Amino acid sequence: MAYKFIDNYREQGARKKLIALLRDKGISDEKVLKAMGKIPRHFFFDETFWNQAYKDIAFPIGDGQTISQPYTVAYQTELLHIQKGDKVLEIGTGSGYQTCILVELGAKVFTIERQANLFNHTIKVLPGMGYKPHFFLGDGSGGIPEHAPYDKILVTAGAPMVPQILLKQLKIGGILVIPVGDEKSQKMITVLRVSESDYEKIELDTFRFVPLVGDKAW
Ligand code: SAM
Repeated sequence: MAYKFIDNYREQGARKKLIALLRDKGISDEKVLKAMGKIPRHFFFDETFWNQAYKDIAFPIGDGQTISQPYTVAYQTELLHIQKGDKVLEIGTGSGYQTCILVELGAKVFTIERQANLFNHTIKVLPGMGYKPHFFLGDGSGGIPEHAPYDKILVTAGAPMVPQILLKQLKIGGILVIPVGDEKSQKMITVLRVSESDYEKIELDTFRFVPLVGDKAW
């Protein structure tokens, strides 16, 4: 099936307003705002719901999952400090919107999704938009050790703790961003790998994600 992408003035205008809102809410990394300003978020929605695509809300994408709220996507992306050429592992591809932002920022992205329907959708849609990450289907709660180490690891679902197995897949100087808490709310955590055995952990704001489901999670 061929996908038809139309980015009209109406959607472009709504996108500009969303970027202004994200700036007002405290997102200040211009590279992140530029990438989000370029990627048509409505391409990740059924046409019936295009009027919801530029609201700062999470939205159902089927199979009990959501496309994350734009503010959350911007917040997590900013924390990653993506540099061109960074090797990034994303756990929880979902709609693929966040994946496109990482690719747009110049990262070499390895993205894993456990739900086959979402995986089968994104492997068609993203390349159709010109974004070509490495796609994987399966439980990413233990990372993808075969392709480690990574400069950055992003978890887009809520975990009960920071999985040690993910920390071991970071390069020295690498950063993990992961929401950690119970099923109702999670704190955004960043972990910097300082040396072979040392890590610096910072706890930030509260969010609500769908749960990370897998062997090394719930
Ligand atoms: N950032 C994504 C977006 O922009 O669409 C939203 C991701 S959604 C909040 C979280 C995703 O993580 C869901 O698609 C879910 O199926 C996936 N997920 C949960 N546990 C997982 C696991 N162990 N391995 C891989 N994916 C997982």
